[in-house]
Amino acid sequence: MIELSGVSKEYRNGRRIVRALDGIDLEIPEGHFAAIKGPSGCGKSTLLMIVGAMLQPTAGKVLVCGRKLATLSGPERALLRADQIGFVFQMFHLVPYLTVFENVILAGGGRGRRPERGAVDGILARFGLSDRSTHLPGELSAGERQRVALARALVLHPPVVLADEPTGNLDPGNAAEVVRILADYRDDGGTVMMVTHSPVADEVADKVVHLGGSALVSG
Ligand code: ADP
Repeated sequence: MIELSGVSKEYRNGRRIVRALDGIDLEIPEGHFAAIKGPSGCGKSTLLMIVGAMLQPTAGKVLVCGRKLATLSGPERALLRADQIGFVFQMFHLVPYLTVFENVILAGGGRGRRPERGAVDGILARFGLSDRSTHLPGELSAGERQRVALARALVLHPPVVLADEPTGNLDPGNAAEVVRILADYRDDGGTVMMVTHSPVADEVADKVVHLGGSALVSG
């Protein structure tokens, strides 16, 4: 489902080169939950952005949902992101002037599929957010905001979910709830890749991936 071989990423700022990833091999089978761990700056977000077809590696091969990312055009990548991948971020990334319901129904970002209204009501109910449907994100607690972001990421049932420290801004109770929602999604057949420092994620993960120390800097 997700396969990386020899993936490296170098960032260049003028003459300075930062080697964020160095020859990563990784396989996450369909229906598995991988927790990605490691110190700040070791390339976790870079890895997630590469798998999410938001960033091209400097070297190596990436296969997501049977597609070789290097062979896809820009619009094909955008469609893959919209149709096949759900994203969740530490800072939620909800649209502040849209209601909870509107944030979720706009999953897919105008590309690809659109969720049915009934599916949006259903997932909001499942995540305990029915009475928040007409609220703006600014009126919600951090835990509620992350559950809205999860509803938006999962409502179209994407085969792959990529979560970048989704528990980073939450108290332990809400963090455990986020991990439980993602583990349930895996139990229903989804493939989950989660960057996290949370020990709760280790308990549910099929695989814990430790990325090495800080990125190499030269130049
Ligand atoms: P993590 O998520 O583990 O904290 P990142 O993937 O964000 O690590 O970053 C890995 C390394 O790459 C860090 O040294 C970071 O400073 C560097 N980096 C990330 N993005 C860029 C960029 N756009 N330009 C230059 N360096 C970057």
